[in-house]
Amino acid sequence: MAITTDLSGKTAVITGSNSGIGLGVARELARAGANVVLNSYTDHKKDHELAEEIAKNFNVEARYIQADLSKGDEARALIEKAGTCDILINNAGIQHVAPIEEFPTEKWDAIIAIMLSSAFHTTAVALPMMREAGWGRVVNIASAHGLTASPYKSAYVSAKHGVVGMTKVVALETAKEPITANAICPGYVLTPLVESQIPDTAKKYGMTEEEAKQKVILERQPSKEFAKTEQIGGTVAFLCSPAADQITGTTISIDGGWTAL
Ligand code: NAD
Repeated sequence: MAITTDLSGKTAVITGSNSGIGLGVARELARAGANVVLNSYTDHKKDHELAEEIAKNFNVEARYIQADLSKGDEARALIEKAGTCDILINNAGIQHVAPIEEFPTEKWDAIIAIMLSSAFHTTAVALPMMREAGWGRVVNIASAHGLTASPYKSAYVSAKHGVVGMTKVVALETAKEPITANAICPGYVLTPLVESQIPDTAKKYGMTEEEAKQKVILERQPSKEFAKTEQIGGTVAFLCSPAADQITGTTISIDGGWTAL
């Protein structure tokens, strides 16, 4: 999914990037020459090995910085520890599925904190760094659920709509500067977050896991195919290219036609 963009000398901080979309985005930005900072809330040897692997494969600098983004001060500290942040990808996310009257308050709080408030905190610290550098990109990984809703996903849909709204505000606050802010709205991408929903979905609808994938999870994705993490990464690389200098405050759907329905 390589986009010919030269990002050498730029530093990208990608939240929630020891897995799934975040890791895919980190790899595509490194492929384009950016130095990358990986993050999650864990501090395992394999987290640091992922950074080493990216550094070696793409000949860039890569670091892993642990920060639990459910905590505002840790989200801010992540960007401070990175020291420089030309490209900020707010990607960390979790999911919980339950009818609203049974939705656990602590799950609501965690989803809003990790997916919406953390993006506020990281952006607040990163923007002055981008201004100092004279260039910057904020790319928020929202969702088709930032534009439409599904039952049983009250916190997720609320957080993602919030992220889309905040993206527009950041774009307006930086409109006259060489900084852009956009949200990518993927439909279903086959990552651990989606895979973990398959058994519950199958149980809820009394289906096999394969039927749950095709008939329930991909039901709203007209292409009937999952998007790939490299495609999300390629779109981020495009948003970092000069071709996208005037693209700001908008959403880009990568959803196989979901939001066209
Ligand atoms: P994933 O579970 O593979 O990755 C989520 C990442 O967030 C992981 O690296 C995880 O460690 C990190 N994370 C979770 N809690 C954290 C915390 N407290 N602090 C720091 N990091 C934390 O899932 P994914 O599918 O790659 O999801 C990435 C993003 O893409 C999420 O925001 C998700 O909502 C969004 N998204 C995913 C899909 C999809 O179909 N997979 C579709 C639309 C949007």
